[in-house]
Amino acid sequence: MRILDMKDYTTAATLYWWSVTTLGAIGLVIAGYATLLLPPSMLVQALIGGAVAAFVGLFPVRIPGSKTAIAAGEIFIFLIMLLYGPAPAVVAAAVEGFIASCRASRRWTSRIGTPAMIALAMLGCANFLENVRANTVLDGAGSAVLLSVLLGFALLYYVSITLLTSTLFALKSRSAFTPIRWLKKLGWMGFAYMASASVAGLLYLTFARFGLPVLLVAVPLIAMFLSTLHFYFQRKDADERHMEELRASESRFHSAFTHAAIGMALVSTEGQFVHTNKAFCDMLGLANGELDEADLRRLVHQDDIEPLKELIDKMIAGKLSSAHTEVRGRHRDGSDVWMSLNLSLARDWQFRNYNLIVQAQDITARRRAEAELYHNAYHDNLTQLHNRTHFMEQLNRAIARAGRGAQHQFAVMYLDFDRFKMVNDSLGHKAGDELLVNVAKRMRSVLRPNDLLARLGGDEFGILMEDLHSERDAVELTERIQREVQKPFVLGTMEVSISASIGITFGANGYESSDQIIRDADIAMYKAKSNGKAQYAIFDASLHAQVSTQLKLENDLRKALGSGQIMLEYQPICTLRDRRLIGFEALVRWNHPERGTLQPSSFIPTAEETGLIVPLGNWVLSEACRQMHEWRHISGSSTLGISINVSSLQLSQPGFVNLVRQALEAAQMQPSQLTLEVTESVLMDGIDHAVETLRELRAMGITLSIDDFGTGYSSLSYLAKLPIDALKIDRSFVERMGRGEDNEIVKAIFKLGQTLGKQVYAEGIETGAQLEMLRELGCEYGQGFLLSRPVGAERAGNFVASRNHVRELAAVA
Ligand code: C2E
Ligand code: CA
Ligand code: CA
Repeated sequence: MRILDMKDYTTAATLYWWSVTTLGAIGLVIAGYATLLLPPSMLVQALIGGAVAAFVGLFPVRIPGSKTAIAAGEIFIFLIMLLYGPAPAVVAAAVEGFIASCRASRRWTSRIGTPAMIALAMLGCANFLENVRANTVLDGAGSAVLLSVLLGFALLYYVSITLLTSTLFALKSRSAFTPIRWLKKLGWMGFAYMASASVAGLLYLTFARFGLPVLLVAVPLIAMFLSTLHFYFQRKDADERHMEELRASESRFHSAFTHAAIGMALVSTEGQFVHTNKAFCDMLGLANGELDEADLRRLVHQDDIEPLKELIDKMIAGKLSSAHTEVRGRHRDGSDVWMSLNLSLARDWQFRNYNLIVQAQDITARRRAEAELYHNAYHDNLTQLHNRTHFMEQLNRAIARAGRGAQHQFAVMYLDFDRFKMVNDSLGHKAGDELLVNVAKRMRSVLRPNDLLARLGGDEFGILMEDLHSERDAVELTERIQREVQKPFVLGTMEVSISASIGITFGANGYESSDQIIRDADIAMYKAKSNGKAQYAIFDASLHAQVSTQLKLENDLRKALGSGQIMLEYQPICTLRDRRLIGFEALVRWNHPERGTLQPSSFIPTAEETGLIVPLGNWVLSEACRQMHEWRHISGSSTLGISINVSSLQLSQPGFVNLVRQALEAAQMQPSQLTLEVTESVLMDGIDHAVETLRELRAMGITLSIDDFGTGYSSLSYLAKLPIDALKIDRSFVERMGRGEDNEIVKAIFKLGQTLGKQVYAEGIETGAQLEMLRELGCEYGQGFLLSRPVGAERAGNFVASRNHVRELAAVA
C-alpha cells in the first residue's frame, strides 16, 4: 500500500509505530471531543490561537547551518494550553506537528506518526501542567512558580517527543537506542522549547492581569517578530549556502587546477607567476611550486619573449580577450620545450587586478615532427644537403634579386659524375651512396659559406653562387671542385676515383624561371661530357642545337640496335716482320639511315653515357665470334685471332664472363683466339669488381690487352700486378715516331713490356718509316693504314682465305 508505505520498517518499528499512532489518535480524538465541549467563546479563541500557531508553524525559524527549525508555533500552543487547558493544546500541537511534518517529509508514516507522537507527548505533559496551573494563585510568588513549572513542562515535553521519535528511529534502523545522544544532539532545541514556554508564560501572566486586549496586540507583534526572524534566518541561510557553494566551487577549481593534466599557471600582468600546477612544473622539469613568484621571461626562449609580450599587452589593452601562441620554454636540463599556450585574462575576485590564466601543453613532439617534415621536404636524406625543391626555390629568389641590380649576379653549376653508374653497378648501391656522401662533403669544403650546394637527384648536384663579381669566380670554383672530386676516395678497403662534368650558366642570361636555368646548366653539362671526362662547359645559345642533336642520336641509337644498322669492320693485325695476318680488330660502324656510315667516335661516347654500350658491346661480341666461326672453314686453322673493344660498363655487368663463354662456345672458338681490349682507366680506377672479372676471363685462357697504352695515368709499377697479357701502344706515340721526335718514352714502354713478359702491339702505323722503327724496337705485331684500313667482313674474309699471301695485304695498304 502506497499510502502507508512501511517498507523500511522492521517488525518492531511497525508495531511501535502502530501502537504510538493508535494511542496518539485516541488521545487526539478524546482531546478533540473535550475541546468541542468548551464554552463557545473559549472555543473560538482557542481556534484562533490554534490557527495562529499553525500559521506561524508555516514559517519555521530555521537556525542557519542546522537542519532543524524552531517551531515558533509552540509559543501559541503553550499559550492555548495555559488559557484553555490541555485538550485544545493537544489538538493545536497535533495540527502544528502535522503541518511541520508535511513540510519536512514526504512520507505518510512520518506525516501521521509525528503529529500522533506530539499529541501523545502533549497529552501526558499538559495534564501534569494543568494540575499545577489550576492550583496556582497568580500573585508574585505564584507567577514565579508557574513560570518555573512551565519551563520544566517545556523540557519534559521536549524530552517526551525526542524519546518517542528516537525510539522509532532506533527500531527502524536497528541501531542501539541512544536517547542521551539524541538529547545532546538536539539539546539546544530543548532551550528553544523553554524559550517558547517563557514567552507563552509571560503572555499568559499579562493576559491574566490586563485581559484579552493586550494579548490581541501582543500576538501579532510576536508573530511579526518571529516572521522577521524567519526571513532574517532564511536570508542568512541563503548567504551561508552561497558561501558554501563558493567555497565548494573554489575547492573544485583548486583541485581541477592542481590536478589538471594540462599545465596551468596564473601569471600577473607584470609577468610573475602567481601560481602554477604540477603539470606546468613537470613540463619544465621543475619541482611543484618552484616557479611561484618567478619571472615568466626567465623561462621563455629569448626569441619568443618579444612576441609574447606584445600579445599580453594587446590583451591588457582590451584588444584581445584571449590568445593562443606557441613558445619555447626552458627545461631545467637546458633543452627547449615547445609549449602551446592559451592565454586569457581574468580579474581577481575583488575585481581589482588582472591575472593571466595560462594553459600550457607540451607540443615538443609535434614541433619536432613538423621540423622533421619540413627538413625532409627541403633536404636530401642521403647527403643531408638541400634538395631539388629547395634549390629551385632559391634559384627563383636569385632571379628576383638579380633583377634589382648588377651586384646581385649569380652563377649556377650543374654537376654530374662521370662513370658514377659504373661505380654503383659494380660496387653496389651502398658503396655508391657512401661515395656520394663523401663527395658532397668534399664539395662543401671548397664552397664559400654563402654558396648553395644541393643534390638534385642521383649523382647530379647543383651549385648556386650568388653575389658574383665576375664569371671567372664561377670558373675558378668549378675547377676547384673538379680537382677536389678527382682525389681518390677510400671506400672500405678500396680506392675509387671519379670525376665530374660540370655545366655552368649565368644569371646574366636573363632567366625568368628556375626551370630555364636548370635546362641550360644541364645542356652545358652535357656539352662538358661530350668534351671528355672531367670537363666543364659554359652555356651559350649555340649549345641548344648541339643538345638536340645529341638527344636525337640517343634515340636513333636505341632504334638502330634492333634494326641491323649496326655492323662491324675488321682491321687486320699483322706480324711486322713479314706482314703476316694473325687476326683482326673488330670495329663497330653505324649505317645511319640519314647520316650515312658513322664512325664510333660519333656515337660510342653517347652509348657509354646512356648505358646503350652494354647491348651494343654484347652484340659486337657475338657478331665478331659468329664471323670467326664462318671464317674457320676458309682459314682452316684455329690460330686466327679476333680483338674486341670492351667498355668498362660491360665489364661491370654481372653476367659478362658467361656471355663471353657462350659466345665462344657458339662459335666453337678457342679462348686463346679472343682478345679483349680494355683501356687503362678500367684497370686504374681500382674497381676491384672489373679486375676480378678480368682475372676470370684470363683464367679461361682469353687474352687481355690494354688499349691506347700510354695515354692514361697507369703507374707502371702497378702494371705488373694486373691480369693482362698485352699492351697496345697508343697511336699518338707511333705518329710522333714518324716525325722524328724523341722516341725515349716509346723505347721505355717496349722495354718495360718485355721485362714484364707482356706482348707489345703498335697501332696507327701509317708509314714505312714507322714500321721500320717499330721493328727495330723489337715490336712484333701491329695494325695501321699502312697494313690495311678496317674493311668489311667480305674483304676481311678474302684476307683470311689468302692468309699466307702477305703481299695481298700490302697491296691493299
Ligand atoms: P681503337 O680501339 O684505338 O681502334 C683503333 C682505331 O684506330 C679505329 O678507329 C681505326 O680505324 C683507327 N686506325 C687504325 N689504323 C689507323 C691508322 O693507321 N691511322 C689512323 N689515323 N687511324 C687508324 P675507329 O674504328 O674510328 O674506332 C675508334 C674507337 O672506337 C676505337 O679505338 C675504339 O676505342 C672504339 N670502338 C670501336 N669499335 C668499338 C666497339 O665495338 N666497342 C667499343 N667499346 N669501342 C669501340
Ligand atoms: Ca682497340
Ligand atoms: Ca687504340
